[in-house]
Amino acid sequence: MTTPQRYDVVILGTGPAGLQAAIHAARKKVSVIVLGKENKSSLFHAHIENFCCLFNVAGEEMLANGRKQAASFGAHFSEDDVLAINAREDGLALETESGATLITPALIIATGTHRNRLGVKGEKELIGRGVSYCVDCDGHFYKGEAVAVVGSESAAVDGALTLLEIGAKEVHLVCERLDVSQALKAKLETSQVKVHLGAKAGAIQGANQVEGLALSDGSVIPVGGVFIEQGAKGLLQLATNLGIMLDDEMRYIQTDKRQATNMPGIYAAGDVCGPPWQMAKAVGEGCVAGINAADYAKKRKQ
Ligand SMILES: Cc1cc2nc3c(=O)[nH]c(=O)nc-3n(C[C@H](O)[C@H](O)[C@H](O)COP(=O)(O)OP(=O)(O)OC[C@H]3O[C@@H](n4cnc5c(N)ncnc54)[C@H](O)[C@@H]3O)c2cc1C
Repeated sequence: MTTPQRYDVVILGTGPAGLQAAIHAARKKVSVIVLGKENKSSLFHAHIENFCCLFNVAGEEMLANGRKQAASFGAHFSEDDVLAINAREDGLALETESGATLITPALIIATGTHRNRLGVKGEKELIGRGVSYCVDCDGHFYKGEAVAVVGSESAAVDGALTLLEIGAKEVHLVCERLDVSQALKAKLETSQVKVHLGAKAGAIQGANQVEGLALSDGSVIPVGGVFIEQGAKGLLQLATNLGIMLDDEMRYIQTDKRQATNMPGIYAAGDVCGPPWQMAKAVGEGCVAGINAADYAKKRKQ
């Protein structure tokens, strides 16, 4: 087990909200780390024409500049996705996909929105009847059953391993490729998860309840549950254990004007707090969250 690393402020998300938060927090002379994959930001493939003072700039270029700017003030970066957050006596403990543990008094969640529907036949019809988007929320309903997880990144691999731990009889991982850290890949390879590498989900079968997952090569895996876990772990999965207050539809984090959530030391900014999904809003909220999280960390030190 590696020694936990301690930071005054940990920021989840390398999009505009996370980067702006990092710039403002780091300038307050606290130690800051920003986690997440730059090319997974919504901004990465966008072209921005409506952000004040910058006209017609590629999102990728903006992200690279923001990262350089935050690093110049002392912020650290890691590509690691976060798989779990737990509250402990000495602060919040974040477990990452490479097996590292980070401890912090102040956390900023800037993980953006998830548009994680697969769009295959049977998916919409069977939501809540075997189709789920959250292993951490629904996994325990599938003890003793055969289940499948669809996805190629950290949320899917961690989800498949979690289902085994919970006691699913058989766990299939359907992934076109494997886009995770070496540490997580090694865990998967030594587990009992049946990996269908290069496979693509074609349709979810079942009349009133999921009965099988058809792959695009025509084969069918008989399962009672299909978990769609695309990308990194989203808001719902990360917030489940912590008791962070969400809106009525459980889609966005609720914050006050200081971007503080209902949990002391936890702030949120950007698309994860709801629409409008715009860079200008993300940057503004990131600034406020960064300042307040840094102040909170400083007070905790005194
Ligand atoms: C095609 C397109 C065009 C757009 N055009 C415009 C436009 O013209 N003008 C405009 O203002 N806005 C536009 N937007 C919206 C804009 O890109 C978003 O509002 C903005 O990127 C939101 O910033 P954010 O920091 O909240 O989230 P994001 O930029 O989405 O960043 C989220 C970050 O969180 C990280 N993350 C997620 N889960 C985890 C985890 N478990 N662990 C660690 N990291 C995690 C991701 O890797 C990513 O780095 C567009 C979006 C798209 C998709």
